Amino acid sequence: MTTDMLAPSLDLTALRAQFPILSREINGHPLVFLDSAASSQRPLRVLDRMDRYYREQHANVHRGAHQLSVEATEAFEGARRIIASHLGANEPAEIVFTRGTTEAINLVASSWGSKFVGAGDEIVITKMEHHSNFVPWQLLAERTGATIRFVDVTPDGLLDLDDLDRLLLGRPKIVAFMHVSNSLGTINPVAEIVRRAQAAGALTLVDGAQAAPHLKIDVAELGCDFYAISGHKMCGPTGAGALWARRELLEQMPPYQGGGEMISEVTMAGSTWAAVPHKFEAGTPNIAGVVGFGEAVRFLTDVGFDAIAAHEAEITAYALERLTNVDGLTLYGPRENKTSVFSFSYLDIHPHDLSTILDQRGIAIRAGNHCNQPLMDHFGINATARASFYLYNSREEVDMLVDGLAMAAKVFCHIS
Ligand code: PMP
Repeated sequence: MTTDMLAPSLDLTALRAQFPILSREINGHPLVFLDSAASSQRPLRVLDRMDRYYREQHANVHRGAHQLSVEATEAFEGARRIIASHLGANEPAEIVFTRGTTEAINLVASSWGSKFVGAGDEIVITKMEHHSNFVPWQLLAERTGATIRFVDVTPDGLLDLDDLDRLLLGRPKIVAFMHVSNSLGTINPVAEIVRRAQAAGALTLVDGAQAAPHLKIDVAELGCDFYAISGHKMCGPTGAGALWARRELLEQMPPYQGGGEMISEVTMAGSTWAAVPHKFEAGTPNIAGVVGFGEAVRFLTDVGFDAIAAHEAEITAYALERLTNVDGLTLYGPRENKTSVFSFSYLDIHPHDLSTILDQRGIAIRAGNHCNQPLMDHFGINATARASFYLYNSREEVDMLVDGLAMAAKVFCHIS
């Protein structure tokens, strides 16, 4: 992302005021929330929308002919229209609601995988993947006898596209990869990877969990076959996410779970399925969560993805400048074409200790393997500290992080 002189700006004070949690104090200090890559915070209008849904509109969806059920169904399906339009889908029916990215990927690996993947087939993923784009494929491979191949990662934290080309010679059935790395912030060249994969006859699944919060997504432009997102990383509630896929593809796939809502007819002899997307939405869905998710996407759209990108580009550039000047700090991942997430090691302080001491100053960062064990293995480390910035973070919070690091050095290493 680059800072564009003409890019729309963002009124940070007014924006932060919309997030009640940001005015909290933690351990006697103003909260500095640098863990949005794990889960973002929610603005009042998302909380209010869910509150209004429960107070005024709640009933089960798709079933009743009474007024409340009609209103709840309209709110739920309205969110589907918002998310479809946000992702550039052809129609709302191409959006399947899930609990999040993890469930969306499991749905594809389980449903599409059970029909189209067999013994001896190859599945390509990358060493950069979050466990949620690893384990569902391992389960599928175990069930079917398929083989998983892994695209290598360069020392700079980029996908090695020559290695991808080599693996594509094996004519895999699918290439599943992340749009943006949750540990490194790397923005992968999705359209290019999709082009190469499709030329080799493979479908493509893109894990968009870390991209959709920051970038305007257009699935048609990306050209992929599946795109998965999580609402809670984009100012929405937990437990609501989505899978996008083209209607023809969804129609070819068998149901993922059975139950109410997903059937057309049930007899003792057998059942037939509802049309997509309902075929994949068995049981009472997370109605309030989905309604809140829709409101979150409207919120981000109203703030403007251009304004968000410009603000985050500024924070990213500033954080890079400050963090690269901290003695003893090793930053992982690329310096360019990245989102506002920074993984690092600092002196020989364990990331968990670092996180604990920063927390004493109200600074929330993440420590651990970030569900990226294979990537950590690749870099020969167990864990990193990770600071992730979002639209509501400020340059001052970068400074507070850097000051906090200096304090941690004093405490742990007696460096003054
Ligand atoms: N993929 C990536 C890149 C992620 O960062 C995450 C969340 N940390 C997930 C998938 C899983 O998302 P969820 O837990 O919302 O299903």
